[in-house]
Amino acid sequence: MSQRQVIIVGGGPVGVALALDLGLRGVSSVVVESRADLGNIPKGQGLTQRTLEHFYVWGLDEELRAARLMPRGYPIGEITAYGNLMSPYWQAPAGREVVSDFFFQKPERLPQYRMEAVLRRKLATLPNVELRLGVTATALAQSDNGVTAAVIDERGESQTLEADYLVGCDGGHSMVREAAGISRSGTDFDQVMVLIVFRSRELHEKLKRFPERSTYRVMHPDLHGYWKFFGRVDVGEGFFFHAPVPAQASRSNFDFSGPLFDAAGFPFTFEVEHAGFWDLRNAVAESYRNGRIFIAGDAAHSHPPYGGYGLNNGLEDAVNLSWKLAAHYAGWGGARLLDTYSPERAPIFRDVAEDFIAARIRDDDAFLRRYNPSRDRAEFEAAWKARDSDVGSRRKAYEPNYAASPIVCGPPGGKTTAHGVHSLKARAGHHLSPQILSQGRNAFEALGRNFTLLALDGDADAFERAARERRVPLKIVRDSAGAARENYGAALILVRPDQHVAWAGDMATDAEAIMQKVIGQ
Ligand SMILES: Cc1cc2nc3c(=O)[nH]c(=O)nc-3n(C[C@H](O)[C@H](O)[C@H](O)COP(=O)(O)OP(=O)(O)OC[C@H]3O[C@@H](n4cnc5c(N)ncnc54)[C@H](O)[C@@H]3O)c2cc1C
Repeated sequence: MSQRQVIIVGGGPVGVALALDLGLRGVSSVVVESRADLGNIPKGQGLTQRTLEHFYVWGLDEELRAARLMPRGYPIGEITAYGNLMSPYWQAPAGREVVSDFFFQKPERLPQYRMEAVLRRKLATLPNVELRLGVTATALAQSDNGVTAAVIDERGESQTLEADYLVGCDGGHSMVREAAGISRSGTDFDQVMVLIVFRSRELHEKLKRFPERSTYRVMHPDLHGYWKFFGRVDVGEGFFFHAPVPAQASRSNFDFSGPLFDAAGFPFTFEVEHAGFWDLRNAVAESYRNGRIFIAGDAAHSHPPYGGYGLNNGLEDAVNLSWKLAAHYAGWGGARLLDTYSPERAPIFRDVAEDFIAARIRDDDAFLRRYNPSRDRAEFEAAWKARDSDVGSRRKAYEPNYAASPIVCGPPGGKTTAHGVHSLKARAGHHLSPQILSQGRNAFEALGRNFTLLALDGDADAFERAARERRVPLKIVRDSAGAARENYGAALILVRPDQHVAWAGDMATDAEAIMQKVIGQ
């Protein structure tokens, strides 16, 4: 038997990040992970500004950036080409930089296994977290008092772990989700994809026809909106590639050079490091919780790797759940706080899956059916040019927020959604924008690990009293910064432990009620 507060099944990036955030907040956990090593498939490489904010909070932003394989400053964005990479029709659309003003950190790009190594190194320094590698969870049970997980290690030795809560971070085929009886829904594209990790200096040389970029997306009328997609792993030789392939494709019968050469538009020498197949599917869990069991990351939402949403959203799941569990253990989290994890996170990925991933596949398909340079060159060229700004507007429209959450105090009629408009203004349920305070420091540098009240000329006393009464750890940052106050549009901003705004206003006339609500009492 092992008695920790939380059992985490799955020590991929999301499970380890959750254990780390919980551990830093004083909550103990045991993480069981089937794999003994990290492998070498680059997978989730595109890390958003928001994800880098998490690494900043964990004190790992420098270490993460130092772990990158690409040279510092190498552009992260994308080339989109029509037909193949030698096509006369290509664009270098705006990338995540279009929303940079709204985040404290810049995005980063590195192979997922290198990012996981950074997380694991930090985890090893925490005495209240145990990472058990080569250990697989095989069965779970929950009662009113706690959870148990049956696990087996690589030598075949079994054990039963006990804890108060269990979180399934065990990927798309999650046994935790199954065992907890949580159903999924979403679009099954009925399409098999190949993933090839390879090395080719020749491809690197040919890509010099483009401005420097990290990913190369090929659109083709035959692909029904799916992509052929090259991504750099390093600069010089390392790449990954994914593309739709026929349903019967397998490692033994598949000629990898076919889709690679078609997408590139020329043959080239390459050396395969890894190849695998998977089914393209959006599958989002109906709920992220059943009793004492939660799910997070790919266990809660599987999807094609179109747009770099998976890992980034998985880390946001972890951060959202972690502060609530920690508040619960510390005694100041209200009875309803843990209930808000699922209603805050589940609608976001439902929108991502259907409106950002599936809709993009459908839009591309419609475009490619409608416009074709061999049918009407002038019409195609005009439409192709008009698409240029389209990618940037999609990035801008992705603004996940919890406006309908029961623990934020915003105007009535708010909706918890991945759609929104980025703004410097402090709005309840939305991510806080980074503003410079009077001493030249950024508001993000001033935030505490729990709730923070930014008091920019406003009177903080009522909140201070309300927090003290409920034993809510509240850091008060008093500042007279004029520009920040103006940009936030409020004198008082109550910021949650996950850097989302809980409430914003000029007068704290109802601080008692606000404080009660934001902690789920
Ligand atoms: C080609 C490709 C490119 C991608 N690009 C991006 C990108 O640019 N940006 C982005 O955000 N995302 C990207 N993704 C998605 C990203 O890789 C995933 O979203 C991410 O790995 C999810 O992390 P996770 O920890 O939830 O799940 P996983 O990484 O799947 O980890 C789950 C872990 O649980 C373990 N496990 C499973 N069952 C058990 C059990 N019963 N007991 C113990 N352990 C168990 C597994 O061994 C595994 O290590 C990409 C994916 C692919 C394939």
